[in-house]
Amino acid sequence: MAVVVQKFGGTSVASAEHIARVAERAIKVRQAGDDIVIVVSAMAGETERLLGLAQAIAGRPAARELDVLLATGEQVTIALLAMALEARGMSAISYTGAQVHIRTDSMHNKARIVDIDADRIRRALVQGKVVVVAGFQGVDEQGNITTLGRGGSDTTAVALAAALEADECQIYTDVCGVFTTDPRVVPEARHLARITYEEMLEMASLGARVLQIRSVEFASKYSVPLRVLSSFEEGPGTLISNEECEMEQALISGIAFNRDEAKLTVLGVPDQPGVAGRILGPVADAGIEVDMIVQNIADDDCTDFTFTVQRSDYDRALEILLQVRDELGAREAKGDDNIAKISLVGVGMRSHAGIASTMFRTLANENINIQMISTSEIKVSVVIDSKYLELAVRALHSAFGLEKAAAGSEGC
Ligand code: ASP
Ligand code: MG
Repeated sequence: MAVVVQKFGGTSVASAEHIARVAERAIKVRQAGDDIVIVVSAMAGETERLLGLAQAIAGRPAARELDVLLATGEQVTIALLAMALEARGMSAISYTGAQVHIRTDSMHNKARIVDIDADRIRRALVQGKVVVVAGFQGVDEQGNITTLGRGGSDTTAVALAAALEADECQIYTDVCGVFTTDPRVVPEARHLARITYEEMLEMASLGARVLQIRSVEFASKYSVPLRVLSSFEEGPGTLISNEECEMEQALISGIAFNRDEAKLTVLGVPDQPGVAGRILGPVADAGIEVDMIVQNIADDDCTDFTFTVQRSDYDRALEILLQVRDELGAREAKGDDNIAKISLVGVGMRSHAGIASTMFRTLANENINIQMISTSEIKVSVVIDSKYLELAVRALHSAFGLEKAAAGSEGC
């Protein structure tokens, strides 16, 4: 008998009918003999509605009170789902985060789970109940309600699966899994049957938003098999797990892209020890996260330094850089927020040279200029002018044959 944790996102519990469907699906799993714990999000749009109310009342509401408010969204869903199960003759019980001791730190609005006491859930499972737990919320050491950041229900589900040593954590959402790239950009994008944690982390952090990144980190740390499936279509979804020898290794698993970055450059910086720190120090002090960093080989004792930040931090980063330019006696500081980053991701890349050169040749054939390049063991990223993003992703998708389905991996 397996223990399965299922998580249903906001769109899967958007109405009473949706919740009834979740209940019916759970009953089938339970009748097949598996123990089942269901984690739910707030009904679609509810968290936004509550945020709107808070802002209307207070502009910048207190973080603690915001958590008290936001946690109500999930509390509504657990009660309704437990009622739906009971109404269909299935014994069920709902729990808030605090009731099952999802202990977090005290960082309101973005708390981290530090401990879960799964005993209460285990006891209910032994009694044959379907256990329904509120996602996204926990409680700190002083008993304050906390929330885990947007999309945090994914992390609740994975953490519970780890604590219960569940056989699988299934994330039901409105897409039927992970694709080679965004199907809105490349209609031929192929559904992936499997992907490794490592690849999923690269895909997610690069903008392929299917899961909260922290849930994947958590799953990887505790080796929880994680499956993303559609709650609207039948199908096996995408299994995210450890790399296994028998896993057929494509060179490239997918292409991620991100339009939300901006590029900043300081030109003609004196080539001396400490310069990189003096440029990026003030940026970090302002709480701005830096992604790619490129420094040129020095020429005439001067060098150029380029980095990227989130687009929302662009104006502030440029302001800081203009000041740094004066302090360092650099020639020029400038920026560009019309950029896009594209990354090829794949564990198969580790053992194959030539991926980067194929990528660069493909972009050259389309006359697309590469502004920055960075690589890791399982990733090659480039920055280009954002207006060529779609063209570049399509050309790369076809150059690497990603649309060609391997036997048995087509569809959801
Ligand atoms: N309801 C929360 C949100 O909208 C948490 C979640 O859905 O995972 O972000
Ligand atoms: Mg979500």
